[in-house]
Amino acid sequence: MARYTDSVCRLCRREGTKLFLKGEKCFSSKCAVSLRPTPPGQHGQARQRKASEYGLQLREKQKARRAYGLMEGQFKRTFNRATGMKGITGENLLQLLELRLDNVVYRSGLGSSRAQARQFVAHGLITVNGKKVDIPSYTTKVGDVISVRSTRKDMEHFKVVKEGVSRVVPKWLSTDAPNLTVTITSLPVREDVDLTLQENMIVEFYSR
Ligand code: SF4
Repeated sequence: MARYTDSVCRLCRREGTKLFLKGEKCFSSKCAVSLRPTPPGQHGQARQRKASEYGLQLREKQKARRAYGLMEGQFKRTFNRATGMKGITGENLLQLLELRLDNVVYRSGLGSSRAQARQFVAHGLITVNGKKVDIPSYTTKVGDVISVRSTRKDMEHFKVVKEGVSRVVPKWLSTDAPNLTVTITSLPVREDVDLTLQENMIVEFYSR
């Protein structure tokens, strides 16, 4: 599968906002968006032309897609699922993205970035209700208990996590840091998303 391999900080600079792709660095003074708040590339500092409506919608879609680390096909499939659900399509989309197993591992603090969380899942380090699940896109549900496999709990990274994470854990997750376990207590709602996104523009983008 195709994979983005360039600097992820370029993606944040392109979108003009923090996408939190680099773990702890994103919360430090070394964040590239804070140091160089212009688009990347040779002409990044040139005066930007006013974006068209299509351009603005495209940027919102790209921002969400890049923040959650999905390729276009995966993102579109998630959008199509959201359109088939009851309720507001944009909010359904964000809910499905938040419920991805790799996102739950990240938001609970078990992984320091979505990319790291995705790797933990893909490498078989994570269980859901006691069973190994190695599919990052797996959709979790209320009541699911996500944990680190017992054989991996003594990894250096998890020793630090056991002492508690400094990041704010959303209220739809209940964490038990010493046991490296997280429970989904409710469905995430719009206010639980920690990114500045205009999901209605993503819906408009795909409805053209
Ligand atoms: Fe890089 Fe993180 Fe800052 Fe984005 S938010 S520019 S990934 S350090």
